[in-house]
Amino acid sequence: MARKKKSSEKKSPGKVVSTTGSKLEDISKLSRKELKERARKFSKQYCVGDGADFQLKKYSTDPNIDLGPEDKPLMKLTLETGVEALAELQDKMYAQDKWSLLVIFQAMDAAGKDGAIKHVMSGINPQGCQVTAFKAPSAEELDHDYLWRCQKNMPERGRIGIFNRSYYEDVLVVRVHESILHASKLPEELATPDIWKNRFKDIRNYEKYLSRNGTRIIKFFLNVSKKEQKKRFIERIDNPEKNWKFSSADAKERNYWGDYMKSYEAMIRNTSTRESPWYVVPADNKSFARIVIVSAIVNAMDELNLAYPRVSKEKIAELKTIKQALLDEK
Ligand code: AMP
Ligand code: MG
Repeated sequence: MARKKKSSEKKSPGKVVSTTGSKLEDISKLSRKELKERARKFSKQYCVGDGADFQLKKYSTDPNIDLGPEDKPLMKLTLETGVEALAELQDKMYAQDKWSLLVIFQAMDAAGKDGAIKHVMSGINPQGCQVTAFKAPSAEELDHDYLWRCQKNMPERGRIGIFNRSYYEDVLVVRVHESILHASKLPEELATPDIWKNRFKDIRNYEKYLSRNGTRIIKFFLNVSKKEQKKRFIERIDNPEKNWKFSSADAKERNYWGDYMKSYEAMIRNTSTRESPWYVVPADNKSFARIVIVSAIVNAMDELNLAYPRVSKEKIAELKTIKQALLDEK
């Protein structure tokens, strides 16, 4: 599907990377309606939907389109256009105060979660957005079931909630290192071989419950290759400003790559639904990944048919009276 650029196709600012994923096209002048349609088609390529037959090997870590450093400004412009559309939708969602959106990010270390959150959410009103990062559970958190800490941080109506990691860690890191499960306070007789199957079922039900109560959920797996992770780890070690991002634990987890991939595959197969789908985002190119993410979020919000609350006739009359009184002020 990759298409090589011809010299006649040199891009100029204003031309941006196509939302069909295979060719370059100007999307800067599209109407909002058209832009949303493009976002829908583009993000659909990465949307798993019903996960029953999901196979991770069918999803590339590479965008598979011809992108070079010269494309950077164009990619930036595309992201900005997407973020603008997202900000408009968020404004409506906040005003309407009914729906909420939960966006979940899961990935191996250095796949670009933090950067994606920072860039995709850059243009939106902080008042309508809340980000929660989930680390290894605290003593208080371990005193509860694994959904407890997540439920406490669910976005309020009208808001976007971002989960940087989530309850999915409890079928990922905890599955890869079963010792974590056995060291937790879960009664031993409940840590049976069926636990993962049961957790998937509980998560599906939980997400269904949230959907039925007005929370729309989309989930991103940032699919980075082991080779690209190595490159990014080395950058983090070489660059003093990035040293803080790297820990020896990250390097250790890398040794379990195969087990993680199996767990991700099982997770997506069992918890991707049409209603609350997983997106498998090619993450070897950070700019491209961000465009996929913003497109998917725009699409998810667009499907909610958000609108500013309707103002009643009485209210309009009242506003007119107040305006007149203000104009009449001496
Ligand atoms: P980071 O996102 O790089 O700050 O790392 C957070 C770490 O917390 C990761 O290594 C996660 O695997 C770990 N973590 C998150 N949730 C859990 C959990 N439920 N049990 C154990 N470790 C977890
Ligand atoms: Mg880390």
